Amino acid sequence: MTSEESRDSEDHEPPPSALRPTPETLIYRALCLRCPRCGQGKMFKTWFRMVHRCSVCNLLIDHPGSGYYLGSIYINYGATVWITTISFIVGRLYFHLPAVPMGWFLGVFCIIFPCFFFRYSRALWLALDCQFDTAVLDEGREHQDSEEKKGTGEEKVEENQDEG
Ligand SMILES: [Zn+2]
Repeated sequence: MTSEESRDSEDHEPPPSALRPTPETLIYRALCLRCPRCGQGKMFKTWFRMVHRCSVCNLLIDHPGSGYYLGSIYINYGATVWITTISFIVGRLYFHLPAVPMGWFLGVFCIIFPCFFFRYSRALWLALDCQFDTAVLDEGREHQDSEEKKGTGEEKVEENQDEG
């Protein structure tokens, strides 16, 4: 009986590595603009404004004033440059499109696409950080746990008062 109980308690607390999302899951959640930890909370409240913390799991999403998302600019810039360059080369070499209209078209693309891709580049940046920095996914959990413990602690105090 005691061995079953201990096995049950082990089932309820999986090792941290089991809770860690796979890289594929992190990318999928980023492309859905969802929280990398729980996959449910939204990352953005408007097109350009992020939520401060995940509404479901309390993970810190926005890092105001810290320059945390500076790296996402490289993702956005890189995606824009690659798409523009490959489109120009393919358009010229395979479809023999005229250079000047293509240049104008791709110039406009270079303005519109980064605005569209802004949210995805930030979500991908956070996913990258979650993949390579193991501490990021644990952030906010201690806060949640301590609040839960505080809650149970208060209940115990109340129980004791009833007994006394
Ligand atoms: Zn979450």
